[in-house]
Formats: sequence, structure tokens, C-alpha cells
Amino acid sequence: MNTRPHDLNSSGHYAPYATVDAVSRGRRYSEPAPSYRSEFQRDRDRIIHAAAFRRLEYKTQVFVNHEGDLFRTRLTHSIEVAQIARSIARALSLNEDLTEAISLAHDVGHTPFGHAGQDALNDCMKDYGGFEHNLQSLRVVDELEEKYADFPGLNLTYETREGILKHCSTKNAAELGDVGERFLNRQQPGLEAQLTNLADEIAYNSHDVDDGLRAELIHIDQLNEVPLFQQQYQEVKQVYPDLSQRRTIHEIVRRLINCQVTDLIQTSVSRLEHHAPADLEAVHRNPEALIAFSDRMRELNLELKRFLRNHLYRHYRVHRMSVKAEQVIRALFEAFFNDPRLMPDEAQLKATELKEKKGDTGQARAVADYIAGMTDRYAIKEHARVYHPGELT
Ligand code: MG
Repeated sequence: MNTRPHDLNSSGHYAPYATVDAVSRGRRYSEPAPSYRSEFQRDRDRIIHAAAFRRLEYKTQVFVNHEGDLFRTRLTHSIEVAQIARSIARALSLNEDLTEAISLAHDVGHTPFGHAGQDALNDCMKDYGGFEHNLQSLRVVDELEEKYADFPGLNLTYETREGILKHCSTKNAAELGDVGERFLNRQQPGLEAQLTNLADEIAYNSHDVDDGLRAELIHIDQLNEVPLFQQQYQEVKQVYPDLSQRRTIHEIVRRLINCQVTDLIQTSVSRLEHHAPADLEAVHRNPEALIAFSDRMRELNLELKRFLRNHLYRHYRVHRMSVKAEQVIRALFEAFFNDPRLMPDEAQLKATELKEKKGDTGQARAVADYIAGMTDRYAIKEHARVYHPGELT
């Protein structure tokens, strides 16, 4: 009988190279093991209860939150990533709970207004260590969330933190300690981290097509120049020639997700069979990532990304919003850095603390933390409150 990848997990057992509680490197502050949950379930639950997670609802991916109720936000994006990651994890007998925790936390460090916001904040921070959303996600879960009596942050497991830190410069890696090590030692992260990273790509490529079409910034005939899209389009048209446009798009988007997930699972199954890692340690030491797309799918994916970059992310309407976003972020940074007393008490207190420890660099970091934590609408309001005399403070 033909074994489908899905069947590998039908016994309910993890693969020997999966990340399970028994091989976890644990938490920074040791805690008793949870009674009725796995360590990674506990991580997932802590993330869901974090303030930074709730704010994702009002943070942009590509479209600003108030542009429409139908577009993805960072919250719905993160949930879609979790859904895709869990499916892949289950098919490969890996740890679903860990992939879910990483997925839900992976974007909590994003600034308001997506990449435009991050680029602007990074530029403001260029003399003070820069700003990078990936590092900020880790900073949020390690330091900035204040919920627990016994430790700062959420005190997540090493493995969830490792998954959140997708990439990192050597300089930053050296300062980060344990989670930075793999970038210095050229090691691979666990398979759950590898797959969640690719689930993120699958999610945003597919939903940006969907949102872009809905916003009418891109059109089906343009997308038909992209082979990956065209394949799905032709399939749908063949089976359902008279389907409405809306449902045609949805049928295409679900096929887009499905064909990428299927390719990823099949390619990864054969890589895992070929390299046959004995355990998690062997995964770390393997010279290449074991979770991967086929070469063909990677190529197709790149073409879709290229299309989205040229036609959606650089569309003049998206660009206009990006420019406005940059102005808001820069103006907020300038105001707060030059006069921290313009910030609310709590942020001001942090700025004073960090300034005492690290001078201007510390003060700049506190301002960046405050700004990065804002939702799109809060940043717009705050900008008005700081700069417009007619606005209530
Ligand atoms: Mg993401």
C-alpha cells in the first residue's frame, strides 16, 4: 500500500527527530513542569494571553487596518501561518504545539504599518543599534511583556524562542546568548522552526494575492503571467468554467496553498528519508535544512514573490500609505527621543531606566519599544496628539 505522508502520524507518535518536551533546552527561569499541558502548549497559551498578541489585530501586513474589514491583519496572518504549520507538522510527525507557538508569536515584534514602519524605525535607530522586527519579537517575549510575578517576559522555552528568531546578524547573535549560537556555529534550527518559517511564506504569498485582488490593486490577467497562479487558474476554469469571480479567486488561492504545502511535505519526507537524522541533535548538525520546497517550487515561488513586489507592494496606492507611515514613525521618534516627557508615564519610566543603564542608546531603545508596540490606529492618533494643537492630548 502506498503510504501517504499523513499516515506517518496516524499512530500519534512523534518522529525521533521531532522536538518534544524531553529534549527541550528549557526556559531561562526554571519552572515546574505543567500538569496537564506540554511545555509547548504552555508557550502557545502564554502567547495568546500576551498584550502584544492582541495588538496584532490592529497591525498591518500590506493594507492599513482601516482600509477595509476584509483584509488580513497580522493577527489573521499569524493564525493562517499556524493553520498551515500545524498541517505540515502533523503530516511529518513533528510537534504541532511548538509550530503553533512559533507561528502565533513570530510577528509580535512588528511595528505599526508593516515593512514601511520597520524601515523607518530602523533608520531612526541607525546610531543606536538599529531596529529589526525579528529581534523585536524575541525582545517582546523575553523582556517587554510584563505579566508574571517571577520573571520578565513570557519565559518561553528555548525552542519557541529559537523559532521566533528566524534570522540574525553575527553581531547580534553574539549578544543574544543561547538563541544566537546557531548563527555563529552555522547550525540548523529544529524542524518545527524550519517548517514554520516556510509556512509563513506560503501564507503571505497566497493571502497577498487574495487581498491584492480584492483591493483591485492587481488583476487576474496580470497574475496569469505568473506560472504558479496560472496553473491553478487553468485548473479551476477547466472544472468550473462558469464560476463567479469571487469564488474563482478563492478556489485559486486554496489551490495555491495546497500545492505549496503538498510540495513542501513531499520534498521534506524524501529529505528526511535520505538524511535519516537520528534525533534533534542530528537535525541541528545537518549541513542543510531538511524542511524545504523542491527546486521547481522554490523557483515558482520566487516568481510569485517578484510579481507581488513589483505590482502590489510597489503599487502607488500602497506606496502612498508607506510614505505616510514613514512620516508618522519618524515624527513620533523625533518627538519622543528629543523629549521623552511627551510619552505616557510608563514609557517615560522605561526611557529613564534605560537611559541610566545605556545612555542615549538606552533612551532610543525605549522610544523604539514604545513605537513598535503601537497599532496602526494608535500611531496615527498619537501623531495627531503630539503634533496637532487642536487634538486632545
Ligand atoms: Mg509573518
